Amino acid sequence: MNLMVFGAPGAGKGTQAKFLIEKYNIPQISTGDILRAAISEQTDMGMEAKKFMDEGKLVPDSTIIGIIKDRLAQDDCKSGFILDGFPRTLPQAEALKTLMDDMKISLDKVISLNVPDELIVGRITGRRVCPGCGASFHVEFNPSKIKDVCDYCGDKLVIRKDDNAETVKSRLGAYHAQTAPLIEFYTNMGVMVELDGTKDVSEVTKDMFNSLS
Ligand code: ADP
Ligand code: AMP
Repeated sequence: MNLMVFGAPGAGKGTQAKFLIEKYNIPQISTGDILRAAISEQTDMGMEAKKFMDEGKLVPDSTIIGIIKDRLAQDDCKSGFILDGFPRTLPQAEALKTLMDDMKISLDKVISLNVPDELIVGRITGRRVCPGCGASFHVEFNPSKIKDVCDYCGDKLVIRKDDNAETVKSRLGAYHAQTAPLIEFYTNMGVMVELDGTKDVSEVTKDMFNSLS
């Protein structure tokens, strides 16, 4: 199964991707997580990307496409994968299509989680993430079982540097200007499923699995 979770920052992509991993036993490929790992390892690529991420801007396409090319070539992607936070621009979507055509594979479904902007700020400012496994929680809407401890791997949860009300504005701006046009791209490809992402986490999961069965 080759899947993509799609939506605005904070729409719930990472949260729902975790359920897809459990069900299909395929890896989640989050470009955001890969970039954050590169920042903590202080690689040249990470240091360059950090400038864009701290300002809520998109990292240049050439960097992102290079990351995906390397990642999809790894063995664990052979039985499928879940793209999360990629693609975010039309050139990225076109590069992905070329890459997948070359690999003789295709996308099965794009799951779009629709959440209006006015709900996004509250979701992002209350988000707590696990630096170990990338899991995402919310202090109010989706709390971890033990406060500030990851349910999946036990690491201490943290607040992402870019999860503040100021950066959210530019991230939403980038989403509407550069990423939202991909809805039409994937609708035209016949793989788009649009879900109401404002429902409770478990309801969204139920709708997602229904759309995949
Ligand atoms: P994304 O990966 O799309 O940026 P996340 O999955 O990290 O978004 O979710 C953003 C925040 O919203 C997190 O704090 C998460 O716990 C919370 N969240 C996710 N899905 C829902 C939902 N259906 N209802 C309320 N809060 C949610
Ligand atoms: P995310 O973890 O998906 O919210 O991404 C965090 C930040 O990483 C974004 O605000 C961008 O700066 C950068 N980023 C992640 N994925 C991409 C992508 N596909 N294209 C460009 N920038 C990205």
